[in-house]
Amino acid sequence: MKPIIGLTPIDDTERDSLWMLPGYMQGLENVGGVGVMLPQTDDPAILKELVTRMDGILLTGGKDVDPGLYGERRESDCGVSSAMRDRMETRLIELALQADKPVFGICRGLQILNAVLGGTLYQDLKKQTETTLTHNMPKPYDRTIHEVTILPDTPLAALYGPGPLAVNSRHHQGIKTLAPALKAQAKAPDGLIESVYLPGYRFVQAVQWHPEHRWQAADSREILGAFVEACEQ
Ligand code: MN
Repeated sequence: MKPIIGLTPIDDTERDSLWMLPGYMQGLENVGGVGVMLPQTDDPAILKELVTRMDGILLTGGKDVDPGLYGERRESDCGVSSAMRDRMETRLIELALQADKPVFGICRGLQILNAVLGGTLYQDLKKQTETTLTHNMPKPYDRTIHEVTILPDTPLAALYGPGPLAVNSRHHQGIKTLAPALKAQAKAPDGLIESVYLPGYRFVQAVQWHPEHRWQAADSREILGAFVEACEQ
């Protein structure tokens, strides 16, 4: 039996559609999992059902988290949000933690995990920080653009060893204050937290970079593989 992993869809209001980059699914299949796109809903009973049936939840990239979720007013450089998706993922995270189901967050997935657990976000890194690092790279996204330093004694260090890892980067927001329960496990040279984990759970981790854009690369296979392995248990 392969683990079935629920992926949160991206909603395109202009086209009235839900969609998914195939790299998420290809990346999971490549390491022995099966990714399925979830419906977009905030119905608590449906979400409970989904978390019960899924072996893990992957919080995908997408629109900016509504700043109201972390108690801030929307600044001009904050992108559009999806209230439905924010509600859905908030509940999904709560349910997954209650059931100790593995959760892996990518980009927005890291950001909403941090916000739901009580942290805050930079609404726009260029506007709100002094960084000169390229966090919002142009295509192609399967190449690396900056390094992160993996912190010792973290799940990520157990996977890659502590030290530098080259990553892609396609985000304009990031963690401002880390949620009290989360721990940083990788940082960019400008100090931005690029990966987190929640101690005491089977697998609750998130990265600011995009393994789905380079799912064939060894480093992407390793993190996706660790997630799928946790989902198998
Ligand atoms: Mn970055």
